[in-house]
Amino acid sequence: MIPSIVVVGSLNMDQVVHAPRHPGIGETILGSDFRTYFGGKGANQAVAASRCGASVMMVGRVGSDAFGDAILANLKNEGIELTYLQRDEQSPTGVALIVVADQGNNTIVVAPGANACVTPQDVQAAQPAFEQASLLVMQLEIPLPAVDAALAVAHKFRLKVALNAAPARQLPIDFYNRIDYLILNRNELSLLSGETEIEAGIRQLKKWGARTVLVTLGEGGVQVHEAASEIHLPAYAVKVVDTVGAGDAFVGAFAAAIAQGATTREAAKWGNAAGALAVTRPGAQNSLPYGEEIELLRGVESP
Ligand code: ADP
Repeated sequence: MIPSIVVVGSLNMDQVVHAPRHPGIGETILGSDFRTYFGGKGANQAVAASRCGASVMMVGRVGSDAFGDAILANLKNEGIELTYLQRDEQSPTGVALIVVADQGNNTIVVAPGANACVTPQDVQAAQPAFEQASLLVMQLEIPLPAVDAALAVAHKFRLKVALNAAPARQLPIDFYNRIDYLILNRNELSLLSGETEIEAGIRQLKKWGARTVLVTLGEGGVQVHEAASEIHLPAYAVKVVDTVGAGDAFVGAFAAAIAQGATTREAAKWGNAAGALAVTRPGAQNSLPYGEEIELLRGVESP
């Protein structure tokens, strides 16, 4: 397979347990409905893009443990190429421990494990994948030196770069002009830019060299700020079941459309529809829509 998209990012096993309330310090309480889910923003976005018809190569790290085996099997099943996915000998697979209390509020502890061990060397070892691809997709759940190395390799092989700045953390200023599509939600925009208003935040990121910035606004849709123009796409009116996974659905579908040659606006429309479909279903990775479902919602064929 010739990959069109390289995703460099995180892979997690999410462990979810329901409980009547959160336990106090030193307390043990009885919960119910324990489930494991495939997660990690990198893996989720890889799956979202693959379901939209892109050929995807995943670069990252999982542990040499049963969770790692399960994640590999799942991604293979989703049609994702894993030649450059490393098995870490020391660190376990990344996990998120999620307690969902009956009142609906969650507590989450993430142990990044092998995700925190992704190195610039891992990225350099994956150069043959970059050579073939047209788009690099990243998030911020792996160490910044690895992100930096991937930006350099993408530049070397002339790939476009989409970076989803989640979870938010401040970026070195020299990252901005190496990113073609910066995708973030409102909170992430505030944290990165230091500005509370969207317009001021965009101005700041552009001052630092950002090119196209896409601000996802949940039920408010998405704003697309290109060099000389900006548009707002309102969200699709859908029945919301669970908003988890909307951002990853947006990024994956957007990336698949870009890799297939769509314009930024057209790709943002795919992302907007994918995010809307994701919120109509429970869960993260299992709620990510397929290309045909997006076509159906949009009433047009894929780009
Ligand atoms: P994140 O999960 O990263 O915070 P958002 O909540 O902004 O991301 O959602 C990403 C995209 O998913 C939105 O830009 C929109 O296209 C779509 N989306 C999210 N929530 C809704 C909703 N309630 N109704 C319709 N579309 C939604």
